[in-house]
Amino acid sequence: MDTLRIAVQKSGRLSESSLELIKECGIDFNNGTGKLKSEATNFPAEMLFLRDDDIPGYVADGVADVGIIGENVMLEKAQNVELIEKLGFSKCRLSLAIPRGQEYNGLQDLQGKDIATSYPKILGKFLADNHVQARIHEISGSVEIAPSIGLAQAICDIVSSGSTLMSNGLKEVEVVFRSEAVMIGTPNLSESKKNILQKLLFRIHALQSAKKNKYILLNAPNDSLETIINILPGMKSPTVLPLAMEGWSSVHSVIHEDYFWDIIENLKAAGAEGILVVPIQKMIK
Ligand code: ATP
Ligand code: ZN
Repeated sequence: MDTLRIAVQKSGRLSESSLELIKECGIDFNNGTGKLKSEATNFPAEMLFLRDDDIPGYVADGVADVGIIGENVMLEKAQNVELIEKLGFSKCRLSLAIPRGQEYNGLQDLQGKDIATSYPKILGKFLADNHVQARIHEISGSVEIAPSIGLAQAICDIVSSGSTLMSNGLKEVEVVFRSEAVMIGTPNLSESKKNILQKLLFRIHALQSAKKNKYILLNAPNDSLETIINILPGMKSPTVLPLAMEGWSSVHSVIHEDYFWDIIENLKAAGAEGILVVPIQKMIK
């Protein structure tokens, strides 16, 4: 049987969530410290632990079949890889920032400036798309100190909370790109590896749906049942069971997190009582 080689970041901001995703898919492997690879014990897969920046290259070359990286790294490395799935974690943005005291009226203010970044490709395209000519200085780390040491008048770097910018006297002025963790794949996957990948994706989709939905149980007086059932979307239609108490029923359903609070309010207003909301671990549609 073939083995799907899955590359994940060895140590960094993506590592923990990537491994958690694989584990939640029910795939077990020994994750000894310092190991470069590890074979799964209950699934035809092998984990490769690599530097995130190297993963697109390895996937493009077929050394790894799939990999989990930030979409920002996928775009910057511009390798021949396919985007298989957005994974919804490690969300961050690649933004332009300038010294806090400086006035900013729009992108034209960056015309002719020096901008330090670790993302010259993404930034270069953004500037070109917006008809801004600026000099890009590629540096590999500590980009946020570039203005204070006189290397550049602006930076383009990853931001999540903005606290690093703040402590370096910078302010965010433009979002260049919004990123999240993605699964990428090699373009020429064999049929047998494609089958393994399909199994993995089936599990990932079940997890993603589960995270977006909640299981809800409530008690309803029978004379409001119809109203309450109409409020609940559910996968098909809600389950309704009689309660031991005369004139009451228990209603079970699944609701999406986006409409969650609205639905709860409407249910209460319609007479629902004892509302319980529980997380769903896996959801197979
Ligand atoms: P190195 O390669 O030296 O380990 P790196 O900056 O490439 O450093 P990390 O800092 O671990 O690696 O970030 C990995 C990815 O996690 C980034 O490419 C980005 O997609 C995402 N990321 C970075 N910073 C944040 C953040 N503050 N919050 C959420 N996601 C982030
Ligand atoms: Zn990196």
